[in-house]
Amino acid sequence: MDKTEIEVLGDNHIATSIETPLRADAFQRTDSEKMEHIQHYFSKIMEELGLDLTDESLSGTPYRFAKMYVKELFYGLDPKNRPKVSTFPNTYGYKRMLVEQDITIDSSCEHHFLPIVGKAHIGYIPNDRVVGLSKINRLVDYYSHRPQVQERLCLQILKDLQETLETEDVIVVVHAKHLCVSSRGIKDKESATTTVEYGGAFTDESRRSEFFDLLKNGSDLNR
Ligand SMILES: [Zn+2]
Repeated sequence: MDKTEIEVLGDNHIATSIETPLRADAFQRTDSEKMEHIQHYFSKIMEELGLDLTDESLSGTPYRFAKMYVKELFYGLDPKNRPKVSTFPNTYGYKRMLVEQDITIDSSCEHHFLPIVGKAHIGYIPNDRVVGLSKINRLVDYYSHRPQVQERLCLQILKDLQETLETEDVIVVVHAKHLCVSSRGIKDKESATTTVEYGGAFTDESRRSEFFDLLKNGSDLNR
């Protein structure tokens, strides 16, 4: 790709697949090896910008940056970090919709490596298995902590929940602000992006309306 094509693709936030594009050797190096390399390369970037790395305030930045990338912002790249989500038999026979809303989204855009911040709202209709509520938050957190595209994030959460809960009847809404839109490029501070993905019973419009009504009631009650 030439530089113009690269900029056009980035600003349109086009993703190439549902799976995060990872190399086959993505996890051959240990986390500490990765941190060592990233620390080295990031110090080169800082030097190139003309920064004085012998300054006390800056000298630890390459290390902090490397640790933040591997252990915090992008811990969700490594499948071994996926939270263990145990499910329980739906012994009480709850067969109605369950909605969990306002789950924090702390992600990063894969085109600019800038934050994507917002909320996820999730609904599902239990089949034979149910899940501890906080596990939904943990799954959202895991998929958020990768270089992402919002559409893919929404799909990855949906797919995992469908498999975990053994039902297609799941809906995922992500509403988020992208710092690459607010802090650079068009510099629009107010706009936000909403994505929605669903399967099973939620392909029925009345089910989706029920979900959005419950969301609205939930946020009214929270006020
Ligand atoms: Zn971006």
